[in-house]
Amino acid sequence: MSYLTKNYNRKKISFKRGKGAYLYTANGSKYLDFVQGIAVNCLGHSNPKLIKTIKDQSKKLWHVSNAFEIPEGEKLAKKLCQKTFADYVMFQNSGAEATEAAIKVARRYFYSIGKPNKNRILCVKNSFHGRTIASIFASGSKKMTEGFGPKVPGFDHFIFGDHKSLKKKINKNTAAIMIENIMGEGGIKVIPDFCLRELRKLCNKKKILLIADSVQDGVGRSGDFFAFDQSKIKPDIVPIAKGIGGGFPIGAVLMNKKVAAGMTPGTHGSTFGGNPLAMAVGNTVMDIVSNRKFLNNVKKLSKYFLWNLNFIKQKYPRIIKEIRGRGLLVGVQLYKDQSRFIKKLMDNKLLTIRAAENVVRILPPLNVKKSELDQALKIINKVCTELK
Ligand SMILES: *Cc1c(COP(=O)(O)O)cnc(C)c1O
Repeated sequence: MSYLTKNYNRKKISFKRGKGAYLYTANGSKYLDFVQGIAVNCLGHSNPKLIKTIKDQSKKLWHVSNAFEIPEGEKLAKKLCQKTFADYVMFQNSGAEATEAAIKVARRYFYSIGKPNKNRILCVKNSFHGRTIASIFASGSKKMTEGFGPKVPGFDHFIFGDHKSLKKKINKNTAAIMIENIMGEGGIKVIPDFCLRELRKLCNKKKILLIADSVQDGVGRSGDFFAFDQSKIKPDIVPIAKGIGGGFPIGAVLMNKKVAAGMTPGTHGSTFGGNPLAMAVGNTVMDIVSNRKFLNNVKKLSKYFLWNLNFIKQKYPRIIKEIRGRGLLVGVQLYKDQSRFIKKLMDNKLLTIRAAENVVRILPPLNVKKSELDQALKIINKVCTELK
């Protein structure tokens, strides 16, 4: 029997080790891992540079309190600011923590300028911002909030793509609009660049903040460092997590100078957030992933992968409805429930994970090889043939 709570419906498989894009079971079965801990292991398993970083740092210093200066964190924050819109960074340990902290930053900003009633956050219905009490109510998802009342107040919702309702829902108490640039759990739905630009304009006009939850689509996953880079917009607040630790739990909130002014001493804190061990790993990930050449390669791989997936879609138009995504955040939307498809992929040694709207989510490491993409394409094609 298992002593773990049953809040997951786990697959009956475990892994002994991983290397790059591959996972190995105890009896030596080899799987192509295109889940990568849900967009976490951006450099694959057992990356030699990350191993060296963690080895070296673990011999020096693991953890000190944020009551003291942490040079490794200063260094990572500087890199994040130099490569992005941000002026300041606040470190956390996970995505949900980072999105909650982002909400705190937004509210605290309006409080600090004498507008404490401007505190409501306008979110996309059925979005995903994590599993803490506030973040589930931010998502507005019935499934995620059921049984976890009382409802956390302060969140309004609009339907993805419904621009009219979005505008109607903004009122004098709205502090911020919070979006995922690409809805990950929600089915790999990309907000088009022109919509992001309109969103930014709308926020400027209404004098409210734009929070772009980049926990899943950030840190190179989209082929740019941030998924909103291509639209040239600058959000005010951006929570990140998943990719930035390359497998080590790190979260962060990036923000501009204006809103950071509200975060005075004592307004927020985290015991673990930004400790030297985590920051050392984050620095190594950042050095690799923020490199232009690295990101251009992600784009190149993405173009190849998406083109070939669309080719398979054309061959099996009754199975595959749409190929979605950007960079290496990819969704294959099926007409039917995707469970059987995912199971068959797994039988053929390819690991993928579901997302909403019958989507098979495919998340290769960002340094995946073309030959590994080819292997996945072959398996996907084979499963389509079998299901035809
Ligand atoms: C995964 C995710 C989160 C939550 O991250 P955790 O580390 O699981 O708390 C928040 N927002 C988005 C967009 C995510 O994909």
